[in-house]
Amino acid sequence: MTTLDTLGRPLRSLRLSVTDRCNLRCHYCMPEDEYVWLPREDVLSFEETVQLTELFGQMGVDRVRLTGGEPLLRRDLPSLVAQLAAKPWIVDLALTTNGVLLADAAADLKAAGLHRVTVSLDTMRPERFTALTRRDALPQVLAGIDAARRVGFTDLKIDSVITKGDNDDEVGDLLEYGRSVGAEVRFIEYMDVGGATHWRPDAVFSRAQMLERLASIYGPIEPLPSPTSAPADRFQLPDGLAFGIIASTTQPFCRTCDRARLTADGVLLLCLYAQHGTDLRRPLRAGASPETLLNMLKAVWRGRADRGAEERRSVRGRGTYIPLSVLKKDAHLEMHTRGG
Ligand code: SAM
Ligand code: SF4
Ligand code: SF4
Repeated sequence: MTTLDTLGRPLRSLRLSVTDRCNLRCHYCMPEDEYVWLPREDVLSFEETVQLTELFGQMGVDRVRLTGGEPLLRRDLPSLVAQLAAKPWIVDLALTTNGVLLADAAADLKAAGLHRVTVSLDTMRPERFTALTRRDALPQVLAGIDAARRVGFTDLKIDSVITKGDNDDEVGDLLEYGRSVGAEVRFIEYMDVGGATHWRPDAVFSRAQMLERLASIYGPIEPLPSPTSAPADRFQLPDGLAFGIIASTTQPFCRTCDRARLTADGVLLLCLYAQHGTDLRRPLRAGASPETLLNMLKAVWRGRADRGAEERRSVRGRGTYIPLSVLKKDAHLEMHTRGG
């Protein structure tokens, strides 16, 4: 029987972070100069990751997304992909990547059985890319997207976080790029998650503003039906091009949130905004039986009441969510540890 949380939400989707390291320093995720990393010995082996993932399958998860940090920094990632792809209950096995290392990895990931790739890309302008990520890597990302198409990934997605004054003038250019490579673009609102230490309300470029900007370029925009548990609302341009908007900040979708996150060191988080998690690594390494671990998972999910983005929306005078001094003490609070 499906385990439901306190708001009646099932667990269907798992985001597996395979590393907290990253080769970019996006301004909304890792703007600081120094970070405290998860101890290497705490990072789950692939065998441990697969053992825990199997339990999530027994909870009802059928969608798994690999993330990070930058997941392609994890050595031998295709071997984990192959082990997960062999699980018949995973109907959707996806990867979210910044694309920098994708050109070299795409063929192996495809051969290993990965179903889908989402690439995060916020600008088409090389100097702007460098300014926003502190690395000069736009050509590599574009080559990565190209390689993903060539090796046969269909259903490619491009996720673009739009921040006011940084790249809101590129919504049309990003859509056109998506069109040219056959990828659906999803615009994401800037969230005040842990790690976004420069977040401020007036840097958010809202869904309403995105739609207004796009309508001024393309003309009337029509909504498209989308599954209720999907975070993106879908729309189409007058010429039929489809795109999505993930309005996590101005129109949160917590009521239908069926996602859990597992950090690279085996901490289960029930919300992007969760301040505490449940350590599954310790009991796993101490020899807890699958049944014990599954009962733990069930109990934790049953008690879940999280609706972080909705609660944040009602905060008056909203500023940074987690202060830098607190972030520095616990890497688990960082977006690059929990995986987005
Ligand atoms: N490094 C990979 C990447 O960038 O695709 C995977 C991990 S990253 C944390 C996952 C997603 O979180 C990315 O699409 C990124 O743009 C998004 N993200 C990070 N910080 C964000 C923020 N403050 N607001 C909205 N989205 C954010
Ligand atoms: Fe950017 Fe993803 Fe790295 Fe965060 S984890 S800095 S979003 S590439
Ligand atoms: Fe789910 Fe938390 Fe995001 Fe709301 S804020 S949609 S509960 S992860």
